Amino acid sequence: MPQENHPVLHQRNNWHLVKDKQSHHSCHRYTAAHKWNTIVLPSLLHPYLALRVATNSGRNAVQTPTEIVPCTCGTRVWLEVTCVHFKYMDSIVLYSCQCTPAPQQLVERGLFPCTPFLPKLAINLDMLEFTAGLFVNSSPNKTAWAATLTEFLDTRGYVFATEVGVHILST
Ligand SMILES: [Zn+2]
Repeated sequence: MPQENHPVLHQRNNWHLVKDKQSHHSCHRYTAAHKWNTIVLPSLLHPYLALRVATNSGRNAVQTPTEIVPCTCGTRVWLEVTCVHFKYMDSIVLYSCQCTPAPQQLVERGLFPCTPFLPKLAINLDMLEFTAGLFVNSSPNKTAWAATLTEFLDTRGYVFATEVGVHILST
């Protein structure tokens, strides 16, 4: 093979790698969106409406459930979730299983999970509602919002342990 063909072949191989990587990423995003739309979001509707009633449409503080629901499915796992509130961050421990999935427990606590299954990060629902209203009334700038939230919490001594948390907030 002539030497001048190598760059073309090399370029073509890289293009395939990039295309495969994009396909994998697109497939992952499609799968996640499908899980959100068909499984998780429908399962969160009732807990969300119950929360709205219990808090008088957000006027009253959320009463954190204290009882642990007995598990009959045998799939219970321990899960630590970082929770982002308006003025602080904290961390809670959940026991998630098919009987009481973590997303459902988080909504009961006024939080929304950042991933459909076994979330490690959750955002306060009031903050999401406020942010949704802000985005409706201003030009969208997720990066500015994520950077502002990170700085806001940082000045209060709360720091994201990894860049993943910030990445999730800005996507
Ligand atoms: Zn169970």
